[in-house]
Amino acid sequence: MKGNSPRIVVVGSINMDLVVRCESLPRPGETILARSSTEVPGGKGANQAVAASRLGAKVNMIGRVGDDSFASKLLSGLHSNGVDTSSVLTTASIASGVAVIGVQDNGQNQIMVVPNSNGLLTPNDVDMFEAVIQNADILLLQLEIPLVTAVHAAAIARAHGVPVLLDPAPAPKEFPAELFNVDVMCPNQSEAAVILGRHVNTIDEAKSAAADLCSRGVRLAIVTLGGEGAIVCDGSTCTWRDAFAIDAVDTTAAGDAFAAAFAVCWIESNSVDQAMFFSCAAGALAASVHGAQPSLPSRRDVVSLLQRTAK
Ligand code: ADP
Repeated sequence: MKGNSPRIVVVGSINMDLVVRCESLPRPGETILARSSTEVPGGKGANQAVAASRLGAKVNMIGRVGDDSFASKLLSGLHSNGVDTSSVLTTASIASGVAVIGVQDNGQNQIMVVPNSNGLLTPNDVDMFEAVIQNADILLLQLEIPLVTAVHAAAIARAHGVPVLLDPAPAPKEFPAELFNVDVMCPNQSEAAVILGRHVNTIDEAKSAAADLCSRGVRLAIVTLGGEGAIVCDGSTCTWRDAFAIDAVDTTAAGDAFAAAFAVCWIESNSVDQAMFFSCAAGALAASVHGAQPSLPSRRDVVSLLQRTAK
């Protein structure tokens, strides 16, 4: 570790989530009156940056916003969560990334993500901030940016000996072979299923999926299983870590909390066991609160859950 707090660089998406709550989602062609609408900062990159910062890391975000009214809200949201946004670029004449999320009363949702400026983050943009990546303890990557840019960011980190943690979400059907060459990959079950082209429903199937990811080049493969915890495999041993018992109300961003927490604790402790414990606690806490960024736990929340559980 290069300082007191882990230094994390996130290359990823920054979105405004427009959340509309309604009794039941409209069918194609139907118009309904919905109950409420809220603007909530989101995007997997920004969520993981905020999560890592709340967990005590020094975080730099590399990304792109547009020049619309959301851009300043998104940047100030990141900033107020302690994330350094000096490597976030602004694109003229385009909107910032947006996710339109309809949620009906029984919790089912429909999501349309428009990448907008996130889709314009190029390998050249990443090159501009090579020094930021070089100075980090770990690079956190997700796939809501162009795949070519994610591949390039991972290559830069690798060239500087900086470990890469990839949350492969959303999982592309044609998964670039270069992205198996990462230190940690943490798909959920459905992402692992898309990447490997087979069902990943049971704990045994998740173990075999994690082992398969390792055989393709991943050093440490984690398959997250929601309320059933997570599997971690280092290429020779696969271990299941059960989930923390909590009252789950909304699992949005549980995976983002998990990925960021794993990165923070793994860099701090150099222990996979401790990092799994810490990240399962962070994921559980995120699932126990509504929303994406509002649900991301602080370090104090995670430590207190770990202490309560240890008693
Ligand atoms: P994603 O949000 O990417 O789909 P998961 O739903 O698998 O990811 O959640 C990530 C992690 O968060 C899980 O491995 C688990 O440790 C924790 N978690 C998620 N949902 C719950 C839950 N209902 N109860 C306890 N822990 C949970």
